Amino acid sequence: MQPQVEIFSQGEELITGQTVDSNATWLSQELVQMGFIIKRHTTVGDNLSDLKKLLQEISLRTDCCISTGGLGPTTDDLTSQAVAAAFARPLSLDSAALEKISTYFSGRKRAMAGTNRKQAFFPEGAERIDNEWGTAPGFALQENRCWFVFLPGVPFEMKAMFAEQITTRLKQRFSLQANQLITLRSIGIGESDLQERINTVPLPDAVQLGFRAGADEVQTKLLFPADTDQEQVKQLVQQLVSNIGDYVFAIDGLNKKQGSLVGVINQLMQQRGLTLSVQETASQGLIAAKCIGQPWLLASSFSQTLEQLSDKLSLQLKSTVSFRIAETIAQKIQQQEGTDLVLVQLYQGGVEQLQHKEQSIVIYNLLLTPEGIRRSESNMNGLQQRKQNQSALLALDFLRRYLQNKGES
Ligand code: ATP
Ligand code: MG
Repeated sequence: MQPQVEIFSQGEELITGQTVDSNATWLSQELVQMGFIIKRHTTVGDNLSDLKKLLQEISLRTDCCISTGGLGPTTDDLTSQAVAAAFARPLSLDSAALEKISTYFSGRKRAMAGTNRKQAFFPEGAERIDNEWGTAPGFALQENRCWFVFLPGVPFEMKAMFAEQITTRLKQRFSLQANQLITLRSIGIGESDLQERINTVPLPDAVQLGFRAGADEVQTKLLFPADTDQEQVKQLVQQLVSNIGDYVFAIDGLNKKQGSLVGVINQLMQQRGLTLSVQETASQGLIAAKCIGQPWLLASSFSQTLEQLSDKLSLQLKSTVSFRIAETIAQKIQQQEGTDLVLVQLYQGGVEQLQHKEQSIVIYNLLLTPEGIRRSESNMNGLQQRKQNQSALLALDFLRRYLQNKGES
C-alpha cells in the first residue's frame, strides 16, 4: 500500500490570494515521484483554533503531513503554539536551536531581536530540523497515525530543508516505491496534435499520461510505476519522441533534467562555445529578457520599425520586409559585434497590426551561422502580448533547432 500524505499550508497571505501557494505544488510533485499518494491540500489563515482543529483531524486520517509556514518570529506565526495546543505537548526551549539562531544573526553582524527566541521553542517530543538557510528551524513529530513535518514558508528554505533533511527521513519511515516521472517538453505544437501523435503508440495500462499547456510550452507527462523495466521506459520514450517530432526540445526524468528552452539553448551554446547577437522587432525586447544573464548573449537590440533600424545601423533599407533585408541587417550586426551567430527578427505589418487582436502579422526569422543562413517564416495573430511572447519563443526555438541540428533552413 502506498502511504498517503497531505500538504498543509499556513498563512493569511495564502488564503487572501496575495501569495500563490507554490510550496504545495512543489512538494506534491516531489512526493508523487517518491511514491506517495497525495490525499489533500489544505490552506488555512493565521487562526489558532482553525489550525489546532485541522492538525487533530489530519493526525487521524493520514500517514504523513508536510506543513509549511508559520514558523517565524512574529505573532502571526502560530504553528508551534497550535501543535502544542492540539496535542497537549507544552513548548520548551531548545538551547541548541537558540544557539544556532543567534549564530545566524552574529554571522551577519545583525542583532537578534527578542522575538526570534520564540523560534527556539518546540512542542514536547518533537525532533528539531535545523535550518541552514534562514532563522526558522523546522520540526517533526508522530501523532496518532500521522508523521508531521513542519517547515518554514520561505520557498527556498523549505526546498533546501526538504531535499537535504526530509527525503532521507521519509525513505526510512515509509515503504516507498518511487514512480518515474518523465516529461516531454515541446513547443510549437498544441495539446490535441500532441495527443493524436501519442495515440499512435500503445501505452501500457499502468502508465499515467497527462498534459500541461502553459504560455511557453506544452508538457506531456508520463508516470511510470516504480517496477517498470528501464529498457522498456527508454524505448517507449524514444518512440513517443520520434512520433511527436522535433517539437520536443527537452526530456526531463530519463537520464537527467534537460530543463527549459533557454536552459537547453544555454547548454548547447556553452558546449559549442558560441556567441550570439539578437535584433528584435515584434517581440519588443522579450528575447533578451528571456535570456537575461546568459553569458553567450553579447548584444541585443530592439526596434519598432525598419526606418529606425535603417538609421541605427546606417543602412539604406527598403520599406518592405524581406529575408534579403534581414540578411543585410544580420551581416551589418556581425561586422559590428563579431558574434558567431546573429539572429534577426522582422515582421510584416505595421505597429497597428501588431496591436490589433484581429489582425495577423508575418514573422521572419533569420539566423546567420558559421555554416550559412537559416530562415523561417510564420503567421501570428492574437493580442499584442501574445504576439510578443510567441514571436520571442519562435525565435528562441528557431535557434534551438539550429543548435540541435533540427529542421532545414
Ligand atoms: P519566516 O521566518 O520568514 O516568517 P515562516 O515559516 O513564518 O518564515 P511565513 O511567515 O508563513 O513563514 O512565510 C514567509 C514567506 O514565505 C511569506 O511571506 C511568503 O512570501 C512565503 N510563503 C509562505 N508560505 C508559502 C507558500 N505556501 N507558497 C509560497 N510561498 C510561501
Ligand atoms: Mg512568518
